[in-house]
Amino acid sequence: MRFADLAAAYERLEGTSGRLAMRSILAELFRPLGAGDLAKVVYLSQGLLRPEYEGVELGVADSLARRAVALATGTEEPRVATRSRETGDLGTTTQELVGGRSEARAGAPLTVAGVYADLERIASAKGEGSQEAKVRTLVELLARASPLEAKFLVRFVLGTLRVGVREMTIVDALAEAFASGTKEARTRIEGAYNLSSDLGRVATALAEHGVAGLDTIGLTVGRPVRPMLAEREPTLAEVLERMGGRTALEYKYDGLRVQAHVAADGTVRLFSRRLEEIGAQFPDLVAELPKAIVAPPAIVEGECVSIDPDTDEIQPFQEVSRRRGRKHDLDRVQAEIPVCLFLFDILLAGGRPVYADDFPDRRRRLEAAVRPSDRVRLATQRVVSDVAGATEFLEEAVAAGGEGVMAKSLKTGSAYRAGARGYWWIKYKRDYTEGLTDSIDGVVVGAFAGRGRRAGLFGAFLLAVYDPKRARFESFCKVGSGFDDARLAEMPKRLAPFASPVPPEEVETGLAPDRWFRPGLVLEVQGAELTLSPVHRAAPGAIRPGTGLALRFPRFTGRIRDDKGPTEATTAHELLELYRHQVRHAAPSSGADPEPGD
Ligand code: ATP
Repeated sequence: MRFADLAAAYERLEGTSGRLAMRSILAELFRPLGAGDLAKVVYLSQGLLRPEYEGVELGVADSLARRAVALATGTEEPRVATRSRETGDLGTTTQELVGGRSEARAGAPLTVAGVYADLERIASAKGEGSQEAKVRTLVELLARASPLEAKFLVRFVLGTLRVGVREMTIVDALAEAFASGTKEARTRIEGAYNLSSDLGRVATALAEHGVAGLDTIGLTVGRPVRPMLAEREPTLAEVLERMGGRTALEYKYDGLRVQAHVAADGTVRLFSRRLEEIGAQFPDLVAELPKAIVAPPAIVEGECVSIDPDTDEIQPFQEVSRRRGRKHDLDRVQAEIPVCLFLFDILLAGGRPVYADDFPDRRRRLEAAVRPSDRVRLATQRVVSDVAGATEFLEEAVAAGGEGVMAKSLKTGSAYRAGARGYWWIKYKRDYTEGLTDSIDGVVVGAFAGRGRRAGLFGAFLLAVYDPKRARFESFCKVGSGFDDARLAEMPKRLAPFASPVPPEEVETGLAPDRWFRPGLVLEVQGAELTLSPVHRAAPGAIRPGTGLALRFPRFTGRIRDDKGPTEATTAHELLELYRHQVRHAAPSSGADPEPGD
């Protein structure tokens, strides 16, 4: 396939916002392709070279890309920088500069396979001289590129393709291209993706053998499964009602979710909620799991929390989060912050997939599969069938250091639903009992300059929720409280990779922050209540025309959700649900809109 055809499709996608229209552009792009090209096109369209969990990164910073553009187009580097500040996008600037280039394009036209191979070379260049090697490869690619191809090449290497394609739109398009778009086929494709976390692999199976090819995609030790997620209910009575009067309650541990893959030979791989490989940060768990799991190969899931070795008490989330991202001094950190993994599910037991079994059966298998130790234990569980019993268990969970309870359905059909949020699991946090809203994970999309003590730093941040249907980030609060000095000082660095000279097009807000950021960093906030606002844009018009939802008196909890990407932040729909619960269960607020910018 010619790379020009891919660039032309991206150009069309960029000018399209409806999911249906995007689906047909992608389906048209996918249909004629053989397995090899198809997998590459699918990865590239996700902004990836390999499935996300492999963590392959191009390692191209803005400055490096600017240098390559300058060299490839014979432009002074400062001019490239100025122009890209003006357009707000180095891709567009490259398109312009390549368009105005005097020399003819060098070499043969680009192909998808050729570009992909070069991008792989860029990604694998490591160590001394690697920066130069990356620039050289990029310059060679740009020398052969048309203006449009150059635009998307540069955007790709910078990780900002901006064509707005989400995974589920790719799933839709694959169904349309290879399975005549039926609902049943789509469900199977999505299911295969949820189990394998690898759309390229799913696409390859489809191209080679049609929908039947998906049968070959099952659980594989070493390949993460997309996690099952929970819904919320505002009271324990409603939790019970939703569960049909009887449910298994478990402690909701406040730590890091870990999916552990234990191979037959005892090799262990650990994945985070975002499916990043995190085994290197938890060598103690990697050493312990082969002893604790009786019958490998197995895939189990649990929550990793820090434990006080003297009292065996569960420590707050902040403790275990100190283990995340640690690369050095691991021995000392392991001793200082010992952890325990509380297992709550099993997907593969003794090499047999059990994810489709009902939850009571899975729990039995989990109990049989684990030999508990200090480091690996089972999540505490009790089956309850009345509110009094549930309340007692909640109090016990909170007293033991949990943040609430997780209710698990015991009904027929209570399979592990990879990648789905549903009422088979319901989370109920202590906060609800205190009449506050649950915490909200908001994406930073802007920042306001600080004054007084905060002069020279950011004083407040504009946060947004995500609307997956519209692929938009909608603002819901401006938060300045809850940040200590160290955190405030750290924020500019944490946000720098997402800086955007212009308002990012996927962001919707009525406020004008001093600095804009592309959605990237996720912060956890709590607030007094949700209200309607003329300046915020969360779930716009859902309650009243011309208003969006806003969080009153927002406060940063101190927790940066590094384990969540921007599209995993709280959704506009969840915010709307929280608003509705609040209206149903508390006296509605005076209806006063928050101050603009509140
Ligand atoms: P939150 O911010 O509430 O943790 P989330 O969006 O990260 O939400 P949810 O699926 O909404 O994830 O909440 C469930 C999370 O709670 C799980 O991802 C898991 O990390 C954690 N957890 C703690 N204890 C349990 C348990 N016993 N069973 C399942 N999940 C648990």
